[in-house]
Amino acid sequence: MKTPLLVFNENGIYCEAADVYIDPWRKVKKAIITHGHADHSRWGHQQYITHHTNVPIIKHRLGDINVTGKDYRETFIINNVKFSFHPAGHIVGSSQVRVEHKGEIWVFTGDYKIEDDGISAPYEPVTCHTFITECTFGLPAFRWIPQHEVFEDINSWWSSNREEGKTSILFGYSLGKAQRLLKHLDTSIGKIFTHGAIENMTNVIRPLVELPETTLITASITKEELKGSIVVAPPSAHGSTWIRKMVPYETASASGWMTFRGARRRRAIDKGFVLSDHCDWQGLLTAIKATGAEKIISTHGYTDIFSRYLRELGYDARTEKTQFEGELAELETKKESEVNT
Ligand SMILES: [Zn+2]
Repeated sequence: MKTPLLVFNENGIYCEAADVYIDPWRKVKKAIITHGHADHSRWGHQQYITHHTNVPIIKHRLGDINVTGKDYRETFIINNVKFSFHPAGHIVGSSQVRVEHKGEIWVFTGDYKIEDDGISAPYEPVTCHTFITECTFGLPAFRWIPQHEVFEDINSWWSSNREEGKTSILFGYSLGKAQRLLKHLDTSIGKIFTHGAIENMTNVIRPLVELPETTLITASITKEELKGSIVVAPPSAHGSTWIRKMVPYETASASGWMTFRGARRRRAIDKGFVLSDHCDWQGLLTAIKATGAEKIISTHGYTDIFSRYLRELGYDARTEKTQFEGELAELETKKESEVNT
């Protein structure tokens, strides 16, 4: 039997024909990187290849690495294997990776969502034989509502907190979710303040996307100034001494996990908004169908349940283990604070 075009080994997703890894979790010679989140772009590879938008983001996180940037749909060849990046709609710069060799085409999604968030290049289906998909939210219980409705809710929450003389504190992961929140906040309500981790990452992204004005919270910002304003902060700031000076405040989290009411309660957050940068159940199924692929490999998330369902639909579906975390990283707050604060 010939070796599959992509295999999962102890280092990551490996293309033997090209001797290159995609989003490896251990140090390798050559890494093709889908996006800037820490579980996909790790430190220590000798060479990085990614969409050019990701270059400043990854350098901000990892320092002066050896990285090459490519455009979407630009073909680059390594040992006769053709590679290209295609928009994944997950966060700014996020890409699917198309791999073609001897007439066979595989696509690895990285993290992705099909809703246009107004900030990332919108997801594009790519025709292939084998589709490797994340399924972070691969359960029918996950059903997103259109983001304009979510943002109406977020803005009216902010507005009513302001009327009560409170500060609104909105938690979101510093790369991706935070900028999506900023982009759609209604600045006619009040002023937007940021935590340092958010401000730093947002400044890296500002040349790429138009975003509203934000003010970094420093020691000189008074409680009076914060009253009625909104503060965007990473989840790690919750429960810290940093937010105490904002009393009285209301907290909210924006994540796909807010589907489960227990997720909000356990973290003692006042309000949960269901907003994810990953596909919901129906989004995954729509994306899979659009690729025309017959073979589906599910990675992190509810892989077993999702693969079983795909087999019932007639797909040749299986699961593979990876070390990706998906949106769990938004809740595992310690990791982000280590990286960004
Ligand atoms: Zn991600």
